[in-house]
Amino acid sequence: MPLYDSNTIKIYNTLSGEKEEFQPITSGYVGMYVCGPTVYSNVHLGNVRTFMSFDMIFRYLKHLEYKVRYVRNITDAGHLENDGDIGEDKITKKARLEAIEPMEIVQRYTVDFHNVLNTFNFLPPSIEPTATGHIIEQIELIETIIDNGFGYVVNGSVYFDVHKYNETNEYGILSKRKLEDLIHNTRALDGQSDKKNPQDFALWKRAEPTHIMRWPSPWSDGFPGWHLECTVMSTKYLGEQFDIHGGGMDLKFPHHECEIAQNKAAMGENPVNYWMHANMLELNGSRMSKSSGNYINPAELLSGKNDIMSKGFSPSVIRFFMMQASYRSVLDLTDDGLLAAEKGFNRLMESYKLIDNLKTNDTSSVDILGWKQKCYDAMNDDFNTPILIAHLFEGVKFINQIKEENTTITKEDLKILKETLTVFTFEILGLESKSNKDSGKDKLTSAVEILINLRKEARLNKDFALSDKIRDQLAEAGIQLNDSREGTTFTTN
Ligand code: AMP
Ligand code: ZN
Repeated sequence: MPLYDSNTIKIYNTLSGEKEEFQPITSGYVGMYVCGPTVYSNVHLGNVRTFMSFDMIFRYLKHLEYKVRYVRNITDAGHLENDGDIGEDKITKKARLEAIEPMEIVQRYTVDFHNVLNTFNFLPPSIEPTATGHIIEQIELIETIIDNGFGYVVNGSVYFDVHKYNETNEYGILSKRKLEDLIHNTRALDGQSDKKNPQDFALWKRAEPTHIMRWPSPWSDGFPGWHLECTVMSTKYLGEQFDIHGGGMDLKFPHHECEIAQNKAAMGENPVNYWMHANMLELNGSRMSKSSGNYINPAELLSGKNDIMSKGFSPSVIRFFMMQASYRSVLDLTDDGLLAAEKGFNRLMESYKLIDNLKTNDTSSVDILGWKQKCYDAMNDDFNTPILIAHLFEGVKFINQIKEENTTITKEDLKILKETLTVFTFEILGLESKSNKDSGKDKLTSAVEILINLRKEARLNKDFALSDKIRDQLAEAGIQLNDSREGTTFTTN
């Protein structure tokens, strides 16, 4: 029996505003789409937090033995400044400022994004599609929306008719906004005069002569709207209706609201069953963001080279810090918080190392199965990682009590204790213990050190044939010994 049969997850669904029992469309399979980064600059730790929340969710769904197709896109065109319909494309602007090709910008920051995710031990998504790789599909979808009467063409650009859509649908269903209020609150801006109404949004924009990233279309040489790419890529790979759509809280409106409208206008269906939104990471009490300048990049936090923190922190400590808050809570990044997380994480790792040396008994005076269930219950309750971590520390308490012989445990229960800690700490929270991570390197170092000592003994015994043999054969294997007054070290090639 797969684990998902005995674990019903409750997910907070932004659409209903409630925690709902998770029922996938196809039993045993989950389709999940998460809006990826716009690759025009280095990701900051706020971006990392959102993607980490969905990495943890992906990991838990996989652990429950669901077959998960996780799609996370790369936005490499169409995302304009200020997330609106006017202004420059974020990538084009950066390319212009640096006098290089837009695709060079895309390449550089996609590589940076992947490096950061590797550093923080993310699992790769199943598919990572790009907006520029799906221009044809986007043009097709726009044609359908126009045919269905929800899109109109002005001067080579195509806009979504929000007012027409709202006659038969509810625009604002996700973000709980009312079109009347939106009308009331929008000022008509210059440059938006192409639109019938300021609330309408671009599906296709005609490119100005200076705009480099452009594609031919039935309406003009231009580029697709930002909201459209996610509708196209999610439904292409997950179907017209799928299980989970995620992203940061700031994408709820207009981005996700527009996705729903595009889907319904084109295909008549509500695309997503569970809308999940990760909350914001703050720095100095306000939201971390590139545009405000209030941000810190992963490399700066890891190295400690920044003006905010007292020192550098390891990827697992940062991950542990983030997992100590629910993905739905705002989290403030502070030095004190990171220092406390470092202590907590080290305590967890130290205790974990003790497990193999604990004495076992004929009976257990701790309820290990009950404790294990509590770990699952925490994750089943909308992926409540702070509660899970509290239970992991209850496991730490058991370990210390058993060590001090205040508590007894059977061999079977000790095995369950270890397995449960391993699964939740490493597999689900995605943390890495130092010895776990470096074990390959450590073993090599230990083995070479043994040989270095044997060689030293051989030389003391004046057995130079043996000492040279050790050095030469290590060299053949690509390991060079370097003798100096302080002793012998080695390098590998
Ligand atoms: P962007 O590259 O701006 O499209 O953002 C990529 C992802 O990071 C989106 O899901 C955003 O919602 C998310 N994000 C941006 N700023 C923050 C923040 N301060 N905290 C958490 N997530 C954020
Ligand atoms: Zn998106």
